[in-house]
Amino acid sequence: MKIRAINGFKDILPDEALRWQYMEKVARDIFERFGAREIRLPILEKTELFARSIGEATDIVEKEMYTFADKGITMRPEGTASLLRAFIEHGLHVQQPVQRLYTIGPMFRHERPQKGRLRQFHQMDVEVIGASEPQVDAELMAMGRMLLDELGITASLEINSLGCPDCRPGFRRRLVSFLEERRDQLCRDCSRRMDTNPLRVLDCKNPGCREQVQEAPSILDALCGPCDGHFAEVRRCLDSLAIDHRVNRFMVRGLDYYTRTTFEFITGDLGAQAAIGAGGRYDGLIEQLGGPPLPGIGFAMGMERIALLMAQQETSLPGPHADIFVAALGEAAAAYAFGLVHQLRRMGLKAAMDHSGRSLKAQMKQAGRTGAAFTLIIGDNELERGKATLRNMETREQESVPLLADATEQAHSLASRVRENS
Ligand code: ATP
Ligand code: MG
Repeated sequence: MKIRAINGFKDILPDEALRWQYMEKVARDIFERFGAREIRLPILEKTELFARSIGEATDIVEKEMYTFADKGITMRPEGTASLLRAFIEHGLHVQQPVQRLYTIGPMFRHERPQKGRLRQFHQMDVEVIGASEPQVDAELMAMGRMLLDELGITASLEINSLGCPDCRPGFRRRLVSFLEERRDQLCRDCSRRMDTNPLRVLDCKNPGCREQVQEAPSILDALCGPCDGHFAEVRRCLDSLAIDHRVNRFMVRGLDYYTRTTFEFITGDLGAQAAIGAGGRYDGLIEQLGGPPLPGIGFAMGMERIALLMAQQETSLPGPHADIFVAALGEAAAAYAFGLVHQLRRMGLKAAMDHSGRSLKAQMKQAGRTGAAFTLIIGDNELERGKATLRNMETREQESVPLLADATEQAHSLASRVRENS
């Protein structure tokens, strides 16, 4: 019996991995343009970390976490909590007043697997800690937009404000009294959420609930002066960078730690899995986790969803192509090629050869499959005559090149030839 991967856990095969590598390369480059530095974090954390940050009454903590019950540890369902735990633990704030950090890796949530929704999925996470200015919110959204643009992905940006501990409780009370009157029309989850996490009712996907909340009071009308000013300034900053965005007063993120600005990048191209990336401000969270009273804001991009969109939108990728294939006929030629390929690789080229003594025809086929730009053919007796044939695989032009006895020298001359061409 064949053993298969677990449902919701996916292999990323080599052709697909090319897309992932490119995505990561572009992302790291952009994150670094904005001054973010990488931090690498463990996958397991104490369960309490997530309960205290994401919140007890959230879908993630209530039902989606992979927890080893007897050990009190959990496979991280998201990156922010772990990143802040590390930030606090190592006192990183002492180094610099404002820190921009990013991390890339797998997350785990026990959800129903479907297209764009897995149990092990991957996120690219960026957090800015120590700055409360609205410019920083806009800058972070601009960074997300730049990343999607450079990957050739079209998405719209939706933003909202969730207020702060000064203004949210008042809004929450008004919302609850509005919802009380409609409790019977709400889905079972929402009826329960009304008592534990009423704001979540606003972004329930159930059509019945959606209809009910259309007339609900808007959090944007309930913001206190400072939160209202902050939101207006974020929008002004986005406009000044010509970043299109739409205000969505129903957007409530599924994590409790958010304050003020929240945002999502949305696509219409992935069915129900519309969110590509999302984030927001969490000004009280670091202190709540036992750290200094620093503000923060961050976002996470879902890599599976980006990869799906890259495939759909045929984002062009740099090829995996070999630079040169060395086709050798006969034992002596093969032995020479063995050393030559090694030297070519030392010089930084992607070089390939066959080790099984196939026919020239078969080797040329193999060269074609590697996508090599050139093939060096060392045919019968060519080694003795000190000559070989260099074939440009694209133009199909062939020329005779001198074969040097010393493989290192030979590699040098071939390397400059290949580089000239690319
Ligand atoms: P959704 O509404 O799709 O469940 P979410 O609000 O739970 O998303 P976040 O916790 O904000 O998602 O995570 C940020 C991003 O990570 C999402 O926008 C999405 O692209 C991705 N993501 C979240 N959960 C999954 C999953 N189970 N499988 C694949 N990607 C996911
Ligand atoms: Mg979710």
